[in-house]
Amino acid sequence: MKALIIVDMLNDFVTGSLKCDRAQRIIPNIRKLVDGFHKQKLPVIFANDSHLDTDFEMERWGAHAIEGTEGAEVIPELAPTDDDIIVGKHVYSSFFETPLDSLLRSRKVDTVILTGLHTHLCVRHTAADAFFRGYKILIPEDSVDSFKAEDHETGLAYLKEYYGATITDAASILKDLKK
Ligand code: ZN
Repeated sequence: MKALIIVDMLNDFVTGSLKCDRAQRIIPNIRKLVDGFHKQKLPVIFANDSHLDTDFEMERWGAHAIEGTEGAEVIPELAPTDDDIIVGKHVYSSFFETPLDSLLRSRKVDTVILTGLHTHLCVRHTAADAFFRGYKILIPEDSVDSFKAEDHETGLAYLKEYYGATITDAASILKDLKK
């Protein structure tokens, strides 16, 4: 069973305090993946920063994605439906002190498709924890990105080399879903 995980596609990361212009490139591709997963009734999980202003990360990045604010909401283009799962996180990894692992296991998920921001940061740390827990990892390279092209590319190379991630694209993932 496959699950789609969308990391940090939040207002603050796309258009807000930690704005990333390159995020625009991946929105339509993630949109297509979400629609494809909905159609096949496969799990769609939004892993969202949901910070307290006392979280350690605030010192490094300044205030962002504070729980309950508009900045912490998923961008309107990808607004979750009632069937989608939302996991709030406090650090880069979507697994660290969240129910994500048990949500996946209870649905017999063995393969995670990681999308969103940033390839070399939250996607990478989420991939690390997925790898440690035995999940197979697929990364559609047109559905993840970073502030800089260089970080995106080195991020992809790292995911492939150290977590055995398959680097693919949204269209190939959608094609395989229909088989
Ligand atoms: Zn954060």
